[in-house]
Amino acid sequence: MPLYEYACRTCGTAFELRMKFEERLRQQTCPRCGGTDTALRLSAPALVGAGGKQAAPVCSTSGNPCNCGMN
Ligand SMILES: [Zn+2]
Repeated sequence: MPLYEYACRTCGTAFELRMKFEERLRQQTCPRCGGTDTALRLSAPALVGAGGKQAAPVCSTSGNPCNCGMN
């Protein structure tokens, strides 16, 4: 499962959660303050591998390797 990065609007904490693609837009709870006013950060999701470089999957929209999650 991909790792998504969120930011808490209440305390400013950034945190990462691993979840299914279709669950990424659900409201998350800040691990620091417990607030639910969080936002998905739209930077490319981090591809966490075992240290090795992982080629980005080819996007079905553009045909180019990217991390937009629309593969
Ligand atoms: Zn917070």
